[in-house]
Amino acid sequence: MENTKIRTRFAPSPTGYMHVGNLRTALYAYLIAKHDDGDFLLRIEDTDQEREVEGAVDIIYNTLKMTGLHHDEGPDVGGSVGPYVQSERKPIYLEYAKKLIDKGEAYYCFCNKERLDMIRANSEALNRPHKYDKHCLGLSKEEIEEKIAAGIPYVIRQNNPSTGSTSFDDEIFGRITVDNSELDDMVLLKSDGFPTYNFANVVDDHLMKITHVVRGSEYLSSSPKYNRLYDAFGWDVPKYIHCPPIMRDAQNKLSKRKGDASFEDLISMGYLKDAILNYIALLGWNPGTTQEIFTLEQLKETFNYMNINKAPAIFDLTKLKWMNGEYIRMLSLDEFHKMALPYYEKSLTKDIDLIKLSQLLHTRTEVLGEIPNNIDFFEEMTDYSPELYLHKKMKTTYENSLVSLEKALPILESIEEWTFDVLHDSMMTLVSELGVKNGVVLWPLRTALSGKQFTPGGAFEIAEILGKEESLRRIKFGIEKLKELQ
Ligand code: GLU
Repeated sequence: MENTKIRTRFAPSPTGYMHVGNLRTALYAYLIAKHDDGDFLLRIEDTDQEREVEGAVDIIYNTLKMTGLHHDEGPDVGGSVGPYVQSERKPIYLEYAKKLIDKGEAYYCFCNKERLDMIRANSEALNRPHKYDKHCLGLSKEEIEEKIAAGIPYVIRQNNPSTGSTSFDDEIFGRITVDNSELDDMVLLKSDGFPTYNFANVVDDHLMKITHVVRGSEYLSSSPKYNRLYDAFGWDVPKYIHCPPIMRDAQNKLSKRKGDASFEDLISMGYLKDAILNYIALLGWNPGTTQEIFTLEQLKETFNYMNINKAPAIFDLTKLKWMNGEYIRMLSLDEFHKMALPYYEKSLTKDIDLIKLSQLLHTRTEVLGEIPNNIDFFEEMTDYSPELYLHKKMKTTYENSLVSLEKALPILESIEEWTFDVLHDSMMTLVSELGVKNGVVLWPLRTALSGKQFTPGGAFEIAEILGKEESLRRIKFGIEKLKELQ
């Protein structure tokens, strides 16, 4: 198998959103294939019809398209080993399940719910892991035919040995061996004719000539049973690459159901797709160098799956924010402006020079979603606490803040050309005339102009964008506020 072309697949279930962990699996599977000019396939695993969600498959297509993880084969692009949607492959699963029955590796099971519940209750009472008791393995051919003819619902189960052991090799986790006594006779084909994941993944990965199976580590514990299926069919076992879990913190797995963000959530919070992809590449993999910023092309070149970690990866939003900021700064001003516009519209109606605003924000934004909150004071300044004028490091007091604003006001009133440079020079002259530190003038000025403790940009940038009239109005308001405290 060493010389065959690498083929990997992304096999999502259409759940209605793209979990960060799923996207990482897609990315790793893509990179493993593309690192060696291999094929990357998309297979839709929709055998759990009860969990079907409208529009869910489109979300998968859109995410792959947006992130540039183009698949070479799949339901929408075709290919020679389709269909690529599991619900369209039902006859294939039945055919292969029957082959296993003929080999004695699987059997019909007609047990009803009550009986299965009873077995489960017994195992629980004895504190043993649940295992089917092989009751139906003993049915004769005639009994089976009779029951099928009578329309009794059945499933097909794997027939696992109860003695000995089974091993499999994972590229990341190494050799894993389990006692066969632990292997449940898992259901391969359900009574509705749909396969379980446990069966479909093996049949499809083989028929689709997948060489490297990339998936989450939650499948590690079932993989010995999958190996037994490969062996039963006489098929080559693919290479397994199980990826470590992605955690919210040391104890909890990242979970969309528990409120953690999906890929779409991150996009609507204002993260850039390329930054997200770059960040999740590092969730469980490292290049062995200190490089952290990678384009998809660079990842393709660098990615070596042997560098995937066993240890769980922590999803660190602060780090993602930082990385997103780096990506924002790599945009041209024009690109940034286009992306920021919808966020300006959320909080601004006034006639403001938006290009100037973009120049200001381009170097100071980590996540686009922060923009409305950061710029709302340009639209309207809400009343603020006078304590904002007090800044230890800037050495400001209510008294010297008032002096600074009162001295600055007439100078600003006389300015005709309201630009950053003129504002800057006039205020710096004032600073030296007063013989104070810059902050004694600039801090009160910025506070009066914004009413905020943190602002994108300093007093001159803010004043320039606000315009002369509005700036003066705000400074006068600040003077009145400080007067009341003297
Ligand atoms: N359909 C499975 C899931 O979404 C895929 C697991 C696999 O990649 O084999 O978890």
